[in-house]
Amino acid sequence: MDTIKKFDSNIMGTYGRYPLVMEKGSRETATDENGRQYIDFGSGIGTNSLGYCNENWVEAVCGQVKTLQHTSNYYYTKVQADFAERLNQITGYSAVFFGNSGAEANECAIKLARKYSFDKYGKGRHNIITLKNSFHGRTLCTLSATGQDVFHDYFFPFVEGFINVEANDTEDLKARLDDTVCAVMIEYIQGEGGVVPLNKDFVDAVFELCGEKDILVIADEVQTGVGRTGKFLAGDHFSHKANVTTLAKGIAGGLPMGACLADERCRNVLGKGTHGSTFGGNPVSCAGGLAVLDFIQSGNHLQQVTEKGDYLRNKLLDIGEIQKVDGMGLMLGASLKTKNASEVVAEALEKGLLMLTAKDKLRFLPPLTITYEEIDRGIAILEGILK
Ligand SMILES: *Cc1c(COP(=O)(O)O)cnc(C)c1O
Repeated sequence: MDTIKKFDSNIMGTYGRYPLVMEKGSRETATDENGRQYIDFGSGIGTNSLGYCNENWVEAVCGQVKTLQHTSNYYYTKVQADFAERLNQITGYSAVFFGNSGAEANECAIKLARKYSFDKYGKGRHNIITLKNSFHGRTLCTLSATGQDVFHDYFFPFVEGFINVEANDTEDLKARLDDTVCAVMIEYIQGEGGVVPLNKDFVDAVFELCGEKDILVIADEVQTGVGRTGKFLAGDHFSHKANVTTLAKGIAGGLPMGACLADERCRNVLGKGTHGSTFGGNPVSCAGGLAVLDFIQSGNHLQQVTEKGDYLRNKLLDIGEIQKVDGMGLMLGASLKTKNASEVVAEALEKGLLMLTAKDKLRFLPPLTITYEEIDRGIAILEGILK
């Protein structure tokens, strides 16, 4: 039986998949089971931050697999300590909780915010404001947090205590920030929502209004974090620091890993027995994460993310069919004038280019390691489709 048939008869049909069986990858090129090659402008969904099978990453991960693949969180491991210390040093946070995905990182942040408020003010201050058009994950709680109605079917009852306000609408935010609210959770650039950046005035207002009332700010940087926008955190482009930041996707170069980072004020909120994860902080994922941090901290790689992002953006803007390009660094979304983004992505696949959509835009999340030559090759394919 061929793979696609076997797959579909054994695996739940939760995804709309393209008819492509991925076999292997090297650097920025993926290869399917028939030996066809693809330039990857999606890097998974921003997960393979160093491309496929980057040498240093492979060495770190394989070395760890051969030494200690896992131990329970009843014990300590050096590699988890090393990874946590480096993350805290780079981001300026005080303490981290490790899970295995973005949704888990956000669950941790949500629990932390509610407990912070409960410890200090008692019951009744449990609401969390999230933004319309946001995306925070697929667990029941993070779905409830997600501010898109399409995610709020079937699975009733949802988790209570989430209030949605319009992104970039300070008045709407002000109106909802009452004394039932313990946190505001934002994506600096809404990823799944269509690569929609928050503007500086709104971000400033979030921090100022929350600061006045001891309301925590949670930044969901699952997609924007770990160098994606040209700074380690997208929040580094702004002048305030979130109390809690969540990371996942690209953090371990394609291995499951999520992190919830807390500042000095929040570092002790989740004490013994209040949270946990069997696999959280897995040594192999931590080793992969350290290799990603090594890459980002060596040379001027974040500067290059900015420069390559500008280069890609300008190339896209040269294409007549593209109306505008949003986003920062190597997280870009291109609006099309007449064509349908999903159809363009399907056609690109046939021509050897992997791409993503975000709502009605084409979305670009190439590996941070992509070269100018590969950008040019991918753009040439895209141009051919869009002309
Ligand atoms: C992908 C994503 C998530 C969910 O991450 P999973 O690893 O799929 O659980 C949460 N928030 C944002 C902003 C994301 O882009």
